[in-house]
Amino acid sequence: LDLRNEDLREIRELGQGNGGSVKLVEHVPTGKIMAKKIVLIDAKPAVRKQILRELQIMHDCHSNYIISFWGAFLSDPNICICMEAMDKGSLDGIYKKTGPINIDVVGKVALAVLEGLTYLYDVHRIIHRDIKPSNILFNSAGEIKICDFGVSGELINSIADTFVGTSTYMSPERIQGAPYTVKSDVWSLGISLIELALARFPFSESLSDDSDLSDLEGTLSPARPGSINSLAALGIPPRKPKDPAQAKKDKRKSKGVSLQGGGMTMSILELLQHIVNEPAPRLSGFPEQAERFVDSCLLKDPDVRKTPKDLLNDEWIVYSRTSPIDLEAWAATF
Ligand code: ADP
Ligand code: MG
Repeated sequence: LDLRNEDLREIRELGQGNGGSVKLVEHVPTGKIMAKKIVLIDAKPAVRKQILRELQIMHDCHSNYIISFWGAFLSDPNICICMEAMDKGSLDGIYKKTGPINIDVVGKVALAVLEGLTYLYDVHRIIHRDIKPSNILFNSAGEIKICDFGVSGELINSIADTFVGTSTYMSPERIQGAPYTVKSDVWSLGISLIELALARFPFSESLSDDSDLSDLEGTLSPARPGSINSLAALGIPPRKPKDPAQAKKDKRKSKGVSLQGGGMTMSILELLQHIVNEPAPRLSGFPEQAERFVDSCLLKDPDVRKTPKDLLNDEWIVYSRTSPIDLEAWAATF
């Protein structure tokens, strides 16, 4: 399929992210409905062509748990990525409508994400790098699929400075400058699952009013080439904690993530500090198997945290595979 912008008719907007927007479009020559993601990239033409080449790997990704890829093209100054459209949208939008998501549905989400991650890594050696509810999509057939994985190294580099908004699902070892591994995705999955089960970002109630930002700098490892591990690289200006104007700016920066709770606002810095230094969040009041699974995703030491593939054998995941919840029926309720 040779995709050109002129052949795509815009139907409506599906959402907005940090790097651009996503639109529902019709490919007029074929009548095919797709989602078109427009990514604004400030890069030289050669780099953009390189990104486009790297994105072609997605043509080879075929899994029931991965969004299908229809093609990508340059449309100055943007890169457009056309993919399967999921009519029920992403799980963040869903829980904001429905409230806390049934734990058996959350179990199906965990299973789907682990299957998708295992496929990406085992078959293509791809690490997702951006697991969060807005990158887990759902459709009215009851399918759960992941999108926006890190196929293109050049694309990852080019959008590194829009990184702040998604840093909050980041594992403690990543915050401290360790390279990405599949286990970092497992941490992000754990945080995402709690968010779905509670219908709120898990860190939003663990705020303290007197967090000392200087502590965080002590926990960050020395800068290492090619990894985002200094405050400057995170694009975070030093914050004056009691300056309301600055607090407002911080709030805007963290758009899409609920960093407020109990009338207090946690800056990105305070959040990163919290993730590194405090015990991981936990589910409580849910079936024990689910709670234990989330605990194992959120082991702070990546050496003891399991890989997605190992977690497919976890007892809650094994249960979730055959649990009787009907996702198609559930999809019809919102
Ligand atoms: P983010 O994932 O950070 O929210 P994106 O630009 O990746 O930002 O996506 C913006 C929104 O568009 C997502 O939150 C999601 O709800 C929606 N979206 C993205 N891709 C699709 C898709 N293939 N089908 C349906 N909705 C999508
Ligand atoms: Mg996304």
